[in-house]
Amino acid sequence: MTDLDLYAIDKKYMRRAIELAGQGEQLGEIPVGAVIVCDDIIIGEGFNQPISSHDPTAHAEVVALRAAAERIQNYRLVDSTLYVTLEPCTMCVGALIHARIARLVFGTTEPKAGAVVSQSALLDSSYFNHRISMQGGVLAETCQHQLSDFFRRRREELKQQKNSYLNNDESPDEISNKKNDR
Ligand SMILES: [Zn+2]
Repeated sequence: MTDLDLYAIDKKYMRRAIELAGQGEQLGEIPVGAVIVCDDIIIGEGFNQPISSHDPTAHAEVVALRAAAERIQNYRLVDSTLYVTLEPCTMCVGALIHARIARLVFGTTEPKAGAVVSQSALLDSSYFNHRISMQGGVLAETCQHQLSDFFRRRREELKQQKNSYLNNDESPDEISNKKNDR
């Protein structure tokens, strides 16, 4: 397989991960999506959902790992590639190593908490007994825009909520006090 073929395949599955991220966004979650592929077949998918599932570990990667392991009835996902729209955090890199994922492909970087190239380079650590090959920057701009659009919309919503209080001339406390007077 040429590098060009591989890049086309990477983009195909990253597009699916972006779709999944959009599903999370519909639920009010930060949009991150993940897909696990083995022999050109999707064996697990997931999107970020810690809020809606009341689960601090429910990052897209972990949700996809659980789905894939359940599907193949094996906690080792050998010869599999995990695609994720955002550079994984420390927890997710650990989970990828436990699952023996062969290759990681991510979209955009996570400057604040990324554990692959941004804040740390965990995949290069010599103390792990498993090596994962890595490719970043696949459809990075699309992944980045999906996230920045989400955060911009959220900021605007918060601002509007604040303005509606201010335009009311009365603070939320005063309003609730009045209700109590009735
Ligand atoms: Zn994570």
